[in-house]
Amino acid sequence: MSLERTLAIVKPDAVAAGQAGRILALIEERGFRILGLGLTRLRTEQAQGFYAVHRERPFFDGLVRFMTEGPVIVAVLEAEDAVKKWRDTMGATNPAHAAEGTIRKRFAQSIERNAVHGSDSIENARIEVGFFFSAADLI
Ligand code: GDP
Repeated sequence: MSLERTLAIVKPDAVAAGQAGRILALIEERGFRILGLGLTRLRTEQAQGFYAVHRERPFFDGLVRFMTEGPVIVAVLEAEDAVKKWRDTMGATNPAHAAEGTIRKRFAQSIERNAVHGSDSIENARIEVGFFFSAADLI
């Protein structure tokens, strides 16, 4: 294991539902250190860029609409094995398949409106952190 960073997003559904505080509390309880934190609203081009790997998928336009519909909270998390640890804390993409105790099991409404995002590799974490934060922003 090594000390890693990952990008977490509390998506518009969870922010609108007033669940952001509980999700941030869970992040702290699970032992992540928050190195950077912000509230922002994605512009369409930003959401398209962030999810560019999915641009050929049938759900892409809906995903971009969803991610731009309201504010999101973006956070840089640090922990041993942070990428996998945060993915495990989030649970499966589809909440119907998410394990008990995961954020998506508790808060997600559907495979699209699934409350949180987490980087899926160390390399993508580096790219995604850079999407929202400059090195000087991180404590
Ligand atoms: P993640 O890494 O678990 O967030 O999942 P992916 O990278 O595969 O997908 C990115 C996001 O696109 C998901 O978190 C969902 O919000 C959305 N998404 C993924 N698959 C589907 C799908 O089959 N249908 C719809 N409507 N949205 C999806």
